[in-house]
Amino acid sequence: MNTHYCNVALPVPLRTTFTYAVPEALRDAVQPGSRVLVPFRKKSMVGVVVEMAEEAPAKAKIREITKVMEFGPALTPQLIELARWIANYYLAPIGEVFRAMLPPVTELNLRREIILTAEGRSAAESLGGGELSHGLTAAEAAFLKKANAKKGPVSFSTATKMGISSAALQRLRRLALIEIRETLRDTQRKSHTIVAWKGFANKTEKPLKEKEEKVRALLETERGPLPMAQLLKLAQASRSAVEHMLSEGLLESWEEPLDSAEDPFDTGYMAPAHALNEEQESARKAIRARFELGEFGVQLLHGVTGSGKTEVYLRCVQETLARGKTAIILVPEIALTLWIGRQCRSWFGAKYEGVAVLHSALSDVERAREWWRLRNGEARVVVGTRSAVFAPLQNLGLIIVDEEQENSYKQEETPRYHGRDVAIVRAKSEGALALLGSATPSLETYHHARNGKYDLLTIALRVENRSLANVEIIDMREDFQKTHESSPISSALHAGIQECLAAGTQALVLINRRGYSWSVLCRSCGASVQCVNCSISMTYHKSRNRLECHYCGSIQQVPKQCPKCQSKYVYFFGEGSEHLEERLRKEFPGARIARLDRDTARTKRQYQETLGAFAGGALDILVGTQMLAKGHDFQRVTLVGVISADSSLNMPDFRAAERTFQLLTQVAGRAGRGELPGRVLIQTYYPEHYAIQDAVKQDYASFFEREMHFRRMMAYPPLTSLANVIVRDTSLEKAILFSRKLSEYFSPHDGHTVRILGPATAPLARLKKEHRFQFLLKSPKRSILTKLLSGALIYCDAQEIPQTAVLVDMDPLSLL
Ligand code: ADP
Ligand code: ZN
Ligand code: ZN
Repeated sequence: MNTHYCNVALPVPLRTTFTYAVPEALRDAVQPGSRVLVPFRKKSMVGVVVEMAEEAPAKAKIREITKVMEFGPALTPQLIELARWIANYYLAPIGEVFRAMLPPVTELNLRREIILTAEGRSAAESLGGGELSHGLTAAEAAFLKKANAKKGPVSFSTATKMGISSAALQRLRRLALIEIRETLRDTQRKSHTIVAWKGFANKTEKPLKEKEEKVRALLETERGPLPMAQLLKLAQASRSAVEHMLSEGLLESWEEPLDSAEDPFDTGYMAPAHALNEEQESARKAIRARFELGEFGVQLLHGVTGSGKTEVYLRCVQETLARGKTAIILVPEIALTLWIGRQCRSWFGAKYEGVAVLHSALSDVERAREWWRLRNGEARVVVGTRSAVFAPLQNLGLIIVDEEQENSYKQEETPRYHGRDVAIVRAKSEGALALLGSATPSLETYHHARNGKYDLLTIALRVENRSLANVEIIDMREDFQKTHESSPISSALHAGIQECLAAGTQALVLINRRGYSWSVLCRSCGASVQCVNCSISMTYHKSRNRLECHYCGSIQQVPKQCPKCQSKYVYFFGEGSEHLEERLRKEFPGARIARLDRDTARTKRQYQETLGAFAGGALDILVGTQMLAKGHDFQRVTLVGVISADSSLNMPDFRAAERTFQLLTQVAGRAGRGELPGRVLIQTYYPEHYAIQDAVKQDYASFFEREMHFRRMMAYPPLTSLANVIVRDTSLEKAILFSRKLSEYFSPHDGHTVRILGPATAPLARLKKEHRFQFLLKSPKRSILTKLLSGALIYCDAQEIPQTAVLVDMDPLSLL
C-alpha cells in the first residue's frame, strides 16, 4: 500500500483528525498508534497517528510530520479501537480521548535493545553463502548474522556501529525478525526533589515578584507540590529563583523515591493472607469458573463492607497472572492506590515482575515511567484510578473495578467517560473478565445483575462474622432545642468521641466540604459573596486568609464589609473541614488530631504520612472529606461521625438519594472492622428520608426497591437513557442564540422515542465566566440519543456554533 499520508488526532477540542504527509525518512517508523510531533497552526504539537492513508484530501495544504516521539507505537490497535468507541459514544473529540489515554510527553532516558526473534534467528542461520531470504538487503542480512552471533541483546549504539540504519531496523521489526525492547536507563536516580508552597512565614507578606507569584499559583492552587524539574518548566523559572524562595522560607522541599517499588511505605510490610471463608471461597470459585471460559463476562461482587472483597480480588489477580495474563485494578481514590498497591507489590511484586501504579498525584516523570513499564511488559498488574482503565497492557485477562458505584470514575471534563463502563467495553473487546465490586452497587449495575446480564455474587457477612456497625441518627433539630448551641458537633457525638479517647480507640469524623465555611453572608441585606466567574458562593479558607472558588480557583480578599450594602455585619456560614478541625481541637485539647482533604493532601507523601500515622495509631481523630469514606481498612476505628449527612440530599439532582445512601453506608463500613465493635453517629436535619433510614439499617435491598420505584415514576436511569447538553458562552446573548438554534433542531424530534426538555437555565447558571443553558434528553434507547446528538453536532457546525460551545454529557452522573 502506498501509505505516504496518515491521519493524526491532536489534543484540540475539534471532532476531526488531521492529515499529514510522512516524509521518506520516517516511513518505516510511523504506524497507527505512534506519537508524532507535527506543525499545527503556528505551533508544534504531539498527536497520535490513528490510521495510515493513501491519499490526502485534495484541497488542503498538507504539511509533514516533524518527528516520531517513540520508537514503537505508544498505543496498541485495541486501544485505538477503544478510543474510537469513546469518541463515538461520548461524542468527544478523538484527540482529547487520546490525551486522556496517554502519559505526559516527557523525556525519559530509555535504553533500546534489539533482540532476535526465533524467526530472526532461523533466518540468520539459513543465510548461508550470500543468498537472501525475506527480501532483505545485504546490509540487513549482514546485521542479522552479526546480531545472531552475539547471542544476547544488541544495544542501539552497537547496531549503529554494525552499520545498520534506523529505517532498516524498523523494517526488520515489521518482518518480525527482531524485537525492540525499551527499558528505563535512569536507575541511578532513585529519588527526585519535590517542591511545595509553604506560605508566608513572616506575617509581613512582602509582595511577590511576578515569577514568584507564578510559582506560588502553581504550587498552591493550580497543581499542588511538584518535582523541581517540572516546576521549573511550568513556571519558566530559573533554579536560582526557586532556591531563593526556598531560603526565604516561602517554599519547602523534600526527596521522594521515583520507583514505587522502593517506597519506604512498603518497608517491613507483610500483606495479610487469610484463608478465605466460605462465602469468599464460593465467590472466588464462581469467578474462576467464569474465567476458565476464557471469554468476556461481567460479574458483580456484592459484599457488605468489611466482607473481605480485597482478599478475593487479590486471589483472582494471582490466578490471572499465573495463567500468563495481565490485570487492571481500578480504585476510586488516590489514597486507595497506596493501600492496594502495597498489597499487590507484597503479593505479586517479586514473583510476577512488577506492579505499576497510576494516578494523578504522580509527577509527570513517574506517570510516564509507570506507563511505559506496562507498555513494555515490565509490569503486568496495574493499580490505579480512573484513567488506568487505559493502561497499555496486552493479553488482558481481568479488570477489577472496586467500589464501582463511585462518582470519581466519571470524568467530568472532556472526554466525559465513565471508567467503569469503559472497563466493561474494554473487557469485551479483549475477551477479558470484568469484576465489579461494591457494598452499595449503583442502581445501573444492580439492575443488570438482577436481569441476569451480569453474574451476581454475594457476600452477606463480614469476615469472622463481625457485626456491622451500629448506626444511630442524631436529629440536629432536637440537639439544638436542647443545647441552644450551634456547634457542628452534637452533644452525642462529643460524648462518643470522649469515650473513644478514654478507651484508647480511634474516631473518624466526616464532613463533605473542605475549607472553613462555604458561604459568606451579609446579615443586613442577605447577599452572599459570589465568585466573579461563577454563580457559586465563595468558600472561606481561614489558614490562607482568603475566599476561594472551588469551581474555577479564583481568589478574593476576605471582605470586612458587605460588598453590596457596606454593612459591617458579614458572617461566615456553613462549616467546612477546616472549621471542624479547629472545633475538635478546641473541644478535645489533649487529642492527637489530623485532617485529610484536598487542601492538606496533594502528594503521595502527604497522603502516606497522614494515613500511615492514623493506621499506626499515632493519631486519635482523623477529620476529613469523603475521600476517607471509601475503602479504608482501619482496624482500631470504633466511632465514625458524620457531620451533615443530608447536605447531599438537597442537591437538585436525581441521584441525590442514591449518593446519600451510598456515602452513609460506606462511611458506616469504616467502623468496627477489627475486633472492636463499631458505632456510627449520623447528624442530620432530615432523619425521615428513606435514603437515611435505609442507610441506618444498612439495607441495600430495601433502598434499591424504593429508589427504583422513584426512577421508574420519573423516567430516570437505569430505566431510561439520559444525555445532558450544555450550551455555553461568555456572552449571554450568544449563549441564548445558540440555545435557540439548537432548540430549533431538537424540537421536531421531541416525541415518544425521545423526550427533550429545555432549553432552561442550567443549575450552575454561570461557570468560569460562561453563561450556561441546558437541554435534557431522555430515551428508552441510548442509540437513539447517540444518533440524534451526532446529528445535532453536525447541525451546530453548519450553523457556525463553535464546537466548544456545546457540551454533551452522555449518561450524566449529575445534572449540575
Ligand atoms: P471490604 O473491601 O469488603 O470492605 P476488606 O477486603 O478491606 O473488606 O477486608 C476487611 C478486613 O478483613 C481486612 O483487614 C482483611 O485483611 C480481613 N480479612 C479478609 N479476609 C479474611 C478472612 N477470611 N478471615 C479473616 N480476616 C479477613
Ligand atoms: Zn449587605
Ligand atoms: Zn469561580
